Amino acid sequence: MTLALETPLADAVGQKLANSLARAFAMSTVGDLVGHYPRRYAKRGDLTPILELPIGQTATIVAEVRRANSRPMRNRRGTLLEVVIGDGFGEMSLTFFGQAWRGKELVPGARGIFSGKVGEYRGQLQFSHPDYQLFDDELEAHQNAEDFAERPLPFYPATATLPTWQLQKVISSVLDDLGEVPDPLTDDARREHKALASRDALERIHRPRTDADVHRARHTLRLHEALVMQTALLQQRWFVRAMSATSRPPVDGGPLSRFDASLPFALTPDQQSVGATLADDLVGEAPMNRLIQGEVGSGKTLVALRAMLQVADSAGQSALIAPTEVLAAQHLRSITKMLGPDMAAELMPTLLTGQMSTAERRKASLRVASGQARIIVGTHALLSDKTTFADLGLIVVDEQHRFGVEQRETLRAKGTHPHVLVLTATPIPRTVAMTVFGDLDVSTIRTMPPGRAGIETFVAPLAEKPAWFGRVWQRAAEEVTKGHQVFVVCAAIDVEAGGSTAVVEDDVDDVPIDPEEGQRGPRFGVVQVASSLREQPATSHLRIRPLHGKMPSEEKDAIMQAFARGEIDVVVATTVIEVGVDVPNASTMIILDADRFGVSQLHQLRGRVGRGRIPGLCLLVTDALEGTPARERVDAVAATTDGFELAEVDLELRGEGDVLGGAQSGSRSSLRLLRVIKDAPLIERARDLAERILADDPALDTHAGLATMLTTRLGEAERAALRKN
Ligand code: ADP
Ligand code: MG
Repeated sequence: MTLALETPLADAVGQKLANSLARAFAMSTVGDLVGHYPRRYAKRGDLTPILELPIGQTATIVAEVRRANSRPMRNRRGTLLEVVIGDGFGEMSLTFFGQAWRGKELVPGARGIFSGKVGEYRGQLQFSHPDYQLFDDELEAHQNAEDFAERPLPFYPATATLPTWQLQKVISSVLDDLGEVPDPLTDDARREHKALASRDALERIHRPRTDADVHRARHTLRLHEALVMQTALLQQRWFVRAMSATSRPPVDGGPLSRFDASLPFALTPDQQSVGATLADDLVGEAPMNRLIQGEVGSGKTLVALRAMLQVADSAGQSALIAPTEVLAAQHLRSITKMLGPDMAAELMPTLLTGQMSTAERRKASLRVASGQARIIVGTHALLSDKTTFADLGLIVVDEQHRFGVEQRETLRAKGTHPHVLVLTATPIPRTVAMTVFGDLDVSTIRTMPPGRAGIETFVAPLAEKPAWFGRVWQRAAEEVTKGHQVFVVCAAIDVEAGGSTAVVEDDVDDVPIDPEEGQRGPRFGVVQVASSLREQPATSHLRIRPLHGKMPSEEKDAIMQAFARGEIDVVVATTVIEVGVDVPNASTMIILDADRFGVSQLHQLRGRVGRGRIPGLCLLVTDALEGTPARERVDAVAATTDGFELAEVDLELRGEGDVLGGAQSGSRSSLRLLRVIKDAPLIERARDLAERILADDPALDTHAGLATMLTTRLGEAERAALRKN
């Protein structure tokens, strides 16, 4: 039988194996299976004797299991499996944390190829979580080890039930019967970009004969991914461009011109130029679909407010949607304040969130539905079916990272092709912007408003300098004495409660060479730190309040407001304070367990202080040892305040998946080999190519291969969202 990519796996490999593949990797078709690419390759030709293994480098050996033993871990849950292997001359150990099941196959006498990074623990050579492939019998052992010295051996992402050798077998047998495969590239494009034909690329990525095969196959498949992704994004963009927008011209003497006249400061050059772009967008034929990126405090909100006022000039409504209740409430307050009493009465800025009482909410909804409220600020509640607008002209989404294309589209459906503006304070490297926000136009605000005192950042490395911990709290107390206020941020709410109270679970580093040194939970919790500060002599006289996501939202809001009014000296909080919160009198940001946070997150948190005339101080407290990746992140943040530089560091130091975050979730299945930073030039070329293709052939009538890949490779949810308007 000839197989096609869309053939159900059960028909290709039998029901039983199809079921395991579905369970382990959510695969359902032949295309899913052959899209499961090897994670890495080992060269049999590079076999090294154990005695010559280079510490710190990746190596591959052939050896036999001598003995294995598993025991519970000392400091945390789970078992540690230790396996000793030998090659006749030397011995080394393999360690697996929390994978006791491997003991069933790594039995004494089993022979195979083992590959990993060579470590050393207590004087013995060690592979921690190596890749391996066991031989079925002696004959295979002989062949595997010697015959194909140059042929790269693939290692697949595997599970307990589906080890890499089994995946290799089933993929290989499917490849034998695989027929034609759609090719997204035309012959010309293939030549131009030095790509292989689709079918050939699949063959060579799974069954390479040489390194060059792997290289060319990966290049081709990456290009396919980039092209499919960029085509989808550009289609969405063109789709929006094809809609006709309601023009919202500024009106002389209208809210915008009155607001500008009353503004106590001059706009920064970037605010002016981005503002002019928005003003043009709002009178364009197609709806605005734009992202503004700029650091915290660069004046994005002001620019967005001016766009809202231009919409209000023609009695249109604008909705600002924020990720949390606290932020929505704060936005409402600051907008009301900026507008001043007369304009606030006229435009009736209105809050609409899920946590308002039914009565309040009904009142607010009426104002929104009637068109009386021209500026509406809210949370996800704005997305509810119950919320209707009289004339929704502009949607502003604050902090895009928490919103995907889908939510944007839900909101858009609440008006007649309203304009959309997205604000993000996380600086994004260009290619990431092109990937995550490829359907949006992007504007950047780089210049900061004048008169900022700036911020100094220090690392308090407790492992090397435990005494600095006391100094940190003395500094906090000194700042309060000077009349300033202090944020303390913890990675967890309560470290004694047990269970999963930690709020930050990203940034888990690779399993370390010594698993017993492994990741521990956060050391500091909001509850513990707040009570210990109340007891310590250095800080006991301060007004200290805890603040975290498990508290009722009125209480959180009340605390933030009291802090903003200066009635609290120290807020001990989780990352609920992460974005947007504006307390000009706060001078100090102390981040405990700083290594638990991502680079961008630390930078964002730090952006809460040093925004006004008071110089900012940021203390990053960490247990992480010098030289570890965790510590590198913390040091990187201390070393620069350039958000764009840090965004790149962030991408390098952690997985791209994390950085792309929720916005990317829908297309996860279509990004397998592509790396947004490393493959930047390729992505740019793919975008060019996609632009040229769509310009000639918008419906992809003559690009059947690409059209097919678009439908099969994009997740169903994402496609639904892209289609919606
Ligand atoms: P963002 O939304 O980018 O974090 P905001 O728009 O909230 O920044 O501005 C931060 C603070 O700076 C606000 O208090 C705002 O009033 C003030 N601000 C904005 N633009 C200017 C400017 N051009 N000159 C002086 N202050 C400004
Ligand atoms: Mg803001």
